[in-house]
Amino acid sequence: MNRLHRPAWPRQPRGPDLLRLPGLRRFFRWRYARLVFQLPLLLLAVFVVVDGLTGDQLAPRNLATTTLWLHYRGLVVIALALLGNAFCAACPLLLTRGLSRRLERLLPRKLSWPKLLKNKYLVITLLLLFFLSYEVFDLWASPWLTAWLVIGYFAGVLVVDTLFPAGTFCRYVCPLGNFNFAFATASPTQIAAVDPDVCSGCRDKPCLHGRESYPEPSQAQGQAAFIPLSSIQNANGQGFFPGCETDLMVPTVVSNMDCTLCMNCVRACPYDNVALTVRAPGLEWTRAPWAKRGGFAAMLLGILLTFWGLLNAVAMTGPYYRGAEWLATVLGTRNEALLLILIFAAVTLSGLALTTAMSLLADRLGGVNNSAKSTPKAALMRWGYVLLPLGFGFWAAHYLFHFLTGALSIVPVTQHFFEFWGSAVDPNWRLSRLVPTRWLFPIGAGFVSVYSLLAVWVAFRIALRDFGKRGVLALWPPLLFILAFAAFSLLVLAQPMEMRGTIFGPTF
Ligand code: SF4
Ligand code: SF4
Repeated sequence: MNRLHRPAWPRQPRGPDLLRLPGLRRFFRWRYARLVFQLPLLLLAVFVVVDGLTGDQLAPRNLATTTLWLHYRGLVVIALALLGNAFCAACPLLLTRGLSRRLERLLPRKLSWPKLLKNKYLVITLLLLFFLSYEVFDLWASPWLTAWLVIGYFAGVLVVDTLFPAGTFCRYVCPLGNFNFAFATASPTQIAAVDPDVCSGCRDKPCLHGRESYPEPSQAQGQAAFIPLSSIQNANGQGFFPGCETDLMVPTVVSNMDCTLCMNCVRACPYDNVALTVRAPGLEWTRAPWAKRGGFAAMLLGILLTFWGLLNAVAMTGPYYRGAEWLATVLGTRNEALLLILIFAAVTLSGLALTTAMSLLADRLGGVNNSAKSTPKAALMRWGYVLLPLGFGFWAAHYLFHFLTGALSIVPVTQHFFEFWGSAVDPNWRLSRLVPTRWLFPIGAGFVSVYSLLAVWVAFRIALRDFGKRGVLALWPPLLFILAFAAFSLLVLAQPMEMRGTIFGPTF
């Protein structure tokens, strides 16, 4: 190994490495490991599209609407809370790669993604459009539209991947992936270097750029740096091993933002030096990870997802419908799209204003009086992390509510699919809830409480880190904010919710 220089790598968590579990490292070093997870989801996508376009259009009886809006979202938050970004890891959309590689041969060359769009602002816009469309077109109630959404997603990946470098879609376009990225910051695992010293001596950084390995240099195709098979520790086959498509180099990873858990780095590292490290959930929020990568756009994404999460749940409650009725009467319009745009704008602006006020006040109390340093942007980049646990806790509570109410419906809905196509099965429509209804609120409230406490810990660490003793004063605005957010979250969860995607309401 060529020890060229010893850069000062950032601090990474040093918890147990999950890849040390028997057989796991060997499995993830295997070239086709990701395919094992992608194929079942691809099969599910096929069922979703077929049933969505041709099946029973009653949403609670269709695979498209139930699997996507009930099961998928519930399992996404469970995976994020307990493990990490498992659903990006198993993303079937990337199986269009083979086709996009063929199509790109028809192009003179790949285009580069415009510099103007190398941030999260496009993602924020697409997420806003998605949340608006979800309400305006009642996506959860339309198997047909849900199927077209899935088809559109596959087409979008294909187009972007054909025209632009691999990884562009995941990092700069995909709304679902970026929801996962933002909230994988809550996860208890992270990619890290086993031994940073080994990285210092690693010349070609294959975890980032990929590598080609064959017995002889003459066999190399020139796709990436050639590293002979004889130099690979625990060799995992020969050929081209791609590096990180979202531009993360393992020893510099300090955040789960942009990590799809694809494990390319595990396969590409010639020194078997990549760990999936266990860490305190949300540890990165206390270390300002987006100051160097992601920047203000990543922070804005996290903050807006938090407030849009509240609105997404409030929009299913009685007070929301009464408020919308009042607004419609005052404005003299029944145009739902217009009313929703106004409501989203009001929530977005007031959420941003409240967060900015909280952050500026905390900065002032901490002693930031210099007007050059006391800008709204700088204050948000310091305190905005406090909203991430609040946002994740509420999204998790909301999605789990729906998941627990309808998880078992996957059985009769699948039976109904085959019944619809002529099989002699009798769906058992009584299967739906996973837990008794009386457990739903305590589970949701439990999630909100735990993540609110995590937000308090994050605020405490930030205050101490940046303001020392004065941190005791700086802490007050975030603490009051957390208290108010948690109280409002519990109030929303306590409301009777419109049941989307289930036949039975939450009565038991
Ligand atoms: S993780 Fe592996 S490939 Fe990446 S810099 Fe370290 S030693 Fe090199
Ligand atoms: S290659 Fe990049 S995206 Fe994939 S697991 Fe490694 S760091 Fe994450």
